[in-house]
Amino acid sequence: MRLTVLSPHRDDAAFSLTLALRRWAGAGVEITVFNFFTRSAYAPYAPAAGDVPAIRAREDRRSLKSIGAQIRVHSLSLLDAPVRLPINFGAITNIEAFSPLAEEVDFLSHQMWAKCRNALVLAPLALGDHIDHRTVHRAALRAAGAHCLGFYEDLPYAAWTDEASIRKRVSRAEAQLGVRLFPALQQSAAWRLKERVISHYHSQIDAGMARTIARYSEKYKGAERIWVPLHSARWRAILNL
Ligand SMILES: [Zn+2]
Repeated sequence: MRLTVLSPHRDDAAFSLTLALRRWAGAGVEITVFNFFTRSAYAPYAPAAGDVPAIRAREDRRSLKSIGAQIRVHSLSLLDAPVRLPINFGAITNIEAFSPLAEEVDFLSHQMWAKCRNALVLAPLALGDHIDHRTVHRAALRAAGAHCLGFYEDLPYAAWTDEASIRKRVSRAEAQLGVRLFPALQQSAAWRLKERVISHYHSQIDAGMARTIARYSEKYKGAERIWVPLHSARWRAILNL
């Protein structure tokens, strides 16, 4: 069984799915994390003169390795939004200010098409509206077959997104895919384990934010929630592991 996680930046997969990935890795699922916008200058907690992409790559390797030693990582080495796009940092989560660029969505969907064949795919719901997350979300809707595509709740943004907004984003994906999505909870180890795993991202978050992200799973009784097609035997199989 193969699963590909689409991670806009080096940390989204671990922030959002540590508990589920750990469970599936332990059950022998072949997991690939596909990182997109990995050339970044964003590292609010790193030493000022550090090589940010190298620091973030190291953090990601350590974190994903502690989730599952066999997890594979592919990175596209694209520039992230503040470096790549003609918008200021404050506008990257402003849905009115900037929409995903058609040529970027095309490019990413082609990359996904090549890499995600024969795999179940988990894409971000793009909660929080970060432009890089919206671009990956839109490309996934275009590239992946309706029955192989599921969605995860982007953290930390999900922690301050209300349930109605999450449901609205899910409904929009359902309309575009033409399938019903249902919420699935993957119970796993305690949130404290997740806190330890994501604490590897020293350059991105402080201890308080690591705790906020990890404790989000308490909302779902110790699970992370994903949204998957209602009538998919392959998704049912992975959820039953
Ligand atoms: Zn991100």
